[in-house]
Amino acid sequence: MSAPVVTRFAPSPTGFLHIGGARTALFNWLYARGHGGTFLLRIEDTDRERSTPEATAAILKGLEWLGLDHDGEAVSQFARADRHREVALQMLEAGHAYKCFATQEEIQAFREAAKAEGRSTLYRSPWRDADPETYPDAPYVVRLKAPREGATVIADKVQGDVTIRNDQLDDMVLLRSDSTPVYMLAVVVDDYDMGVTHVIRGDDHLNNAARQMMIYTAMGWDLPTYAHIPLIHGPDGKKLSKRHGALGVEEYQQMGYPASGMRNYLARLGWSHGDDEVFTDSQAQAWFDLDGIGKSPARFDFKKLENLCGHHIAATEDAALLHEVQEFLVATGQPVPEGVHLERLGAAMPVLKERAKTYPELLEKAYFALSTRPIEPEEKAAKQLDAEGRTLLSELTPHLQSASWTRDALEAAANDFAAAHDIKFGKMAGPMRAALAGRAATPSVFDMMMVLGQEETLARLTDAAKGGQD
Ligand code: GLU
Repeated sequence: MSAPVVTRFAPSPTGFLHIGGARTALFNWLYARGHGGTFLLRIEDTDRERSTPEATAAILKGLEWLGLDHDGEAVSQFARADRHREVALQMLEAGHAYKCFATQEEIQAFREAAKAEGRSTLYRSPWRDADPETYPDAPYVVRLKAPREGATVIADKVQGDVTIRNDQLDDMVLLRSDSTPVYMLAVVVDDYDMGVTHVIRGDDHLNNAARQMMIYTAMGWDLPTYAHIPLIHGPDGKKLSKRHGALGVEEYQQMGYPASGMRNYLARLGWSHGDDEVFTDSQAQAWFDLDGIGKSPARFDFKKLENLCGHHIAATEDAALLHEVQEFLVATGQPVPEGVHLERLGAAMPVLKERAKTYPELLEKAYFALSTRPIEPEEKAAKQLDAEGRTLLSELTPHLQSASWTRDALEAAANDFAAAHDIKFGKMAGPMRAALAGRAATPSVFDMMMVLGQEETLARLTDAAKGGQD
């Protein structure tokens, strides 16, 4: 039986959680969840100058909003420096690493001479095979004794076999002269200690994989499975920039995209399962596999994101959607409806969720449910409440007063009224929209009447019919 899957997301907290990082996290989450495995989070905070607690908080917040829950506590890489050092010393002890006393000037001189002679400028330390008896009492770094013959083959699940000749890699530094561990060592030790079985990350780390593999080999540790995913490009095929949508995920939250739609979209960004475009989390978890990840860079496309978000909003159960909209309002610092407004918003959900691609679009349609009398019509709507419109409304109102409050009865009453006055229903709809919502574009007047109920509907119609005469 193969070992249970353990994946991890390992962001460096130097900025917000951008869209590429979010996608990497999602792929790792999907893979772990779909394989009954574990999804871990490690904050790679060894760069003390660039790492900030604010960035860590933003990453955690972004993951939380996206619903990418990790198992256990987040691991701080910096806090594990002693363990990283311990492993380097173990390699030193076992002869897989050595002390290098070369000074910066010596290394520089080596490079210049190599360049002048047309040789490789990769540093070759004279201390690699030096007798410890000859060690000076001077500062040193610990270097890996990397193999010089042969090649390192990264058996990558996305890129295929990637071969790197070992004579193209130098003996990397594991411990600096102040004995702090380097990042490359930290990643391997952490992945090993965390039991990571699958390393799924951006292909900007592909070259690191060859070096990292050498540490696994030196330690006699089993290699993880690697999957290096192509970066995300803009719709024009160029590297993703802010203009293309390379924003922090919280900006997508602020724009009102549902997290489920975001997950669906990010999953499709570089991964596919047949022709499936719209899917649920459980489908994505069941289907996600490394084989479905494409080799070429995915292109970010706002239109497609919106389209998928529209599907997700429409497919969300009413009560859950109401909850999401409330959370959106809280997250964006907007007032959250209460009492009768909240009830109306809830009652309107089946109507509102059709064709809304974002929460702000949904809320725009919900304006009628959230507003309070007297309804102030917008300019365009106000035009519908001219003398003719107001007369229509005042004549219509008594008919609605006696109608039973079902959609069928209301439609019948409105149609009878239109026929009796020899007008098209459309002629009444404008003033009714203006009266009920103060807007020219609204959900259907019957839907609004059903949500508002008889008393409120009649009151709004009466207000509008009287408008301008007060
Ligand atoms: N900390 C690295 C980054 O944010 C990821 C390293 C890894 O996944 O191995 O790009």
